[in-house]
Amino acid sequence: MANIFTKIINGEIPCYKVAETDEFLAFLDINPNAKGHTLCIPKVEVDKIFDLDKETYGSLMEFSRTVAIAIKKVIPCKRVGMTVIGLEVPHAHVHLIPLNSMDDARFISKEKLTPEEFETTAKAIASYVEL
Ligand code: AMP
Repeated sequence: MANIFTKIINGEIPCYKVAETDEFLAFLDINPNAKGHTLCIPKVEVDKIFDLDKETYGSLMEFSRTVAIAIKKVIPCKRVGMTVIGLEVPHAHVHLIPLNSMDDARFISKEKLTPEEFETTAKAIASYVEL
């Protein structure tokens, strides 16, 4: 059975899309550590990020860098952090998280956003993505 991120890729469940190429998709994390917390995923269904083939792994990092640069332009923060965990969703993904303090990287305190805030945040970041 397809995992939840593959369902997002296939349009079976919605997401707040930030960027998309033939190979990759970026969308806002639905339970964000901070406003602008974004997930970058390959469209190929591989669970663990280090099991991706070398080329896809490298391209995912390049895609994530492009998205991170756009996040930094939109969300006031000290820097954009990058984390890989994968304990919840078995589909390789990179977390890009606007950081102002170490707490923002700890996946403990969460930010509540309205659907409208998700929508405007995704659109704002998308407008700065230069693919
Ligand atoms: P992990 O697999 O531990 O890296 O965590 C998976 C992340 O995916 C969590 O931060 C969730 O909030 C996020 N997540 C799960 N389902 C969705 C969804 N449908 N849309 C956006 N983000 C999601």
